[in-house]
Amino acid sequence: MYSALLVAAMIITAIETFIMHVPVTRDGIADSTHSITHWGMPGVMIYTDAGQIGYGFTGTHAHLASDRLITSCIAQCYGELLLGENPLEIEKLWSMMAYNPPLQWVGRAGIMTMALAAVDIALWDLKAKVAGEPLWKTLGGSEDAEVEMYNTDGGWLNFELQMLVDDAKRLVEEEGYRSIKMKVGKEDFTEDIRRVEAVRAAVGPGVKLMTDANGRWRMPLAAEVAGRLKDYDVEWIEEPLWHDDVRGHTELAAAIKTPVALGEMLYSLAQFQEFIAAGAVHFVQPDATRLGGISEAWQVSDAAHAAGLPVSPHAGDMAQAQAHLSLAHPGISLLEFIPWIKDCFVEPLRIETGSLRSPEQPGAGTTLRASALERFGKPSA
Ligand SMILES: [Mg+2]
Repeated sequence: MYSALLVAAMIITAIETFIMHVPVTRDGIADSTHSITHWGMPGVMIYTDAGQIGYGFTGTHAHLASDRLITSCIAQCYGELLLGENPLEIEKLWSMMAYNPPLQWVGRAGIMTMALAAVDIALWDLKAKVAGEPLWKTLGGSEDAEVEMYNTDGGWLNFELQMLVDDAKRLVEEEGYRSIKMKVGKEDFTEDIRRVEAVRAAVGPGVKLMTDANGRWRMPLAAEVAGRLKDYDVEWIEEPLWHDDVRGHTELAAAIKTPVALGEMLYSLAQFQEFIAAGAVHFVQPDATRLGGISEAWQVSDAAHAAGLPVSPHAGDMAQAQAHLSLAHPGISLLEFIPWIKDCFVEPLRIETGSLRSPEQPGAGTTLRASALERFGKPSA
């Protein structure tokens, strides 16, 4: 009589992992602590008896041995928990994975969390595909939502000054970005100041300029350098100190005029709550690929929003899936973008004059082109 009642719940029938190493847009890029030639994408495809496939991934240094730890965790630890389960019950599955006693014992950050992120994103991709709509809609977002994108791909620390300035001008004048980020943390900090001064002079006063030290400095040097950034109307200083240093960031945030941004190296809601409660952060930067996926990044965004702090996700996914989170969450109006992997997807992100165009296809935007897998794929464990 009621046909809907006769339809059996959808179940997960198989999971398959993948690893892709996608070249960055130039020969190689560097910040103060990392230098890379490729972006790593260990991920998962979740198959169901209804035919839909969910795609999820995390973002790495493109180091095959450690990427394989992530895919092996997905396949061997989470895989056995997921088979036969209803993929639409995301909260239940998330808890089964995150609070599983033997798994929790071996890792509540890093590999286990990044593997969880890939699975969670794939589950959200599936849920939106089943609903026949883009994920931002499934998450409650509006057609009218506006998200500004800031570009990080022009500001690398290994660029000579002229290239840095030329790239900043190109992003603003030709591509229409209203916000850009540049790296700091040179051996000689006076060089950082000269570079920031040159970029500010090149783009003019109306452009938001963010800076990022990637955890390089220690006190009191951090206070000295970050203190001088106010002269160039810098929007924020990101990760000025070592990632876990709550006390140091609290002291620094109180001592300088430039706001502090951080979060890309935090792997749990609890860690974010510590920084927020201590007043150690002004711009909160969850990353769904390092936290436990969209599910936990949403909770972090809620916590920050409730504390009155703006949220601007860090793009371990190069914004591909977090575009949906950002369009839907009330605390997010600014999102990081780097263009390296966008063409790997069936629906690449579209950005016009620095604003995100809402994705239209069903899912989280994570469905890969077969050609990308063929071209950039590496054997996963
Ligand atoms: Mg950063």
